[in-house]
Amino acid sequence: RAKKQGKGQVCFFEPKMQELFHSRLKTETELKQAINKNQLQLHYQPIINPTDAHQVLGFEALVRWKVTNTIRLPEQFLEIAEETHQIIDIDRWVISEALSQQARWNSSARTPPLTMAINVSASHLADSSIVEHVKACLKEHNTIPSSVSIEFTEAALIKNAKSTKAVLKALNELGVKLSLDDFGTGLSSLTQLQDFPLSVLKIDRSLLSDLNDQKTTLIESIVSMASILKLDIVAEGIETDEHQALCQKLKIQQAQGYYFSKPATTKDIESKFINQSDV
Ligand code: C2E
Ligand code: MG
Ligand code: MG
Ligand code: MG
Repeated sequence: RAKKQGKGQVCFFEPKMQELFHSRLKTETELKQAINKNQLQLHYQPIINPTDAHQVLGFEALVRWKVTNTIRLPEQFLEIAEETHQIIDIDRWVISEALSQQARWNSSARTPPLTMAINVSASHLADSSIVEHVKACLKEHNTIPSSVSIEFTEAALIKNAKSTKAVLKALNELGVKLSLDDFGTGLSSLTQLQDFPLSVLKIDRSLLSDLNDQKTTLIESIVSMASILKLDIVAEGIETDEHQALCQKLKIQQAQGYYFSKPATTKDIESKFINQSDV
């Protein structure tokens, strides 16, 4: 845009750049205190079995940052957190908090236990300290390891491939499930993914939006390949009756989306999805 308007206009953009720089710096400084000030919160989105009376199987923990009266979403701070390496502390907090919440929701020894899915960033997944942290949290809450899944994207598998592979192997040995998030947005093929000890593929919601015959066929083939590779499928972004019907038709047994519930606070989740006798 600067070019189009001619060289003389360039200085016009400088105050804007400066503004951007300052707002980033401000976010960075505020973020440093977010954990200590108890400003981070988790919202939870139910993961449902769409083929079985919408039974709640578990939840995905999604981080929120509450500053005064506004709730900031991950897209407003995770990139900065990643660049400044603060993401590691945030993710560690998320793991502790989510596993302790899961333990409260499973306190009446519900079988099977409600599952908990936790997102970790690419840089965290390349850092071997995550393994000890997950192990310690599982131990603290006496959590069944297979009731926890760690979610990450294809980008995390490509970045720092060697150290990430070692971390995934160690996490897999702990017994937690490894889940590839946003599948269908990256470039990897399913065969390339066989190099990693994955147990779950989450089909990205972009594959479901504006559903047409071609997309339906694509989803169908992902589902059948996943079954050959013994990967569980979670469908993300279920928003409509049509999406729900497709899950039923393809026998997808785990689904998540606004159709069932938006991510919600602990309190809302408890009033809608947890048996009071379980809390
Ligand atoms: P994700 O892991 O793929 O999470 C799903 C995102 O889609 C969530 O956005 C959720 O609110 C949204 N979503 C769920 N169902 C629907 C639907 O039916 N329609 C639409 N349009 N959206 C839906 P959110 O909470 O803003 O999180 C965005 C991303 O931020 C997550 O994508 C994840 O990659 C990342 N993230 C969230 N929490 C954490 C965390 O604790 N640590 C790390 N490292 N990343 C996180
Ligand atoms: Mg996720
Ligand atoms: Mg996703
Ligand atoms: Mg995502």
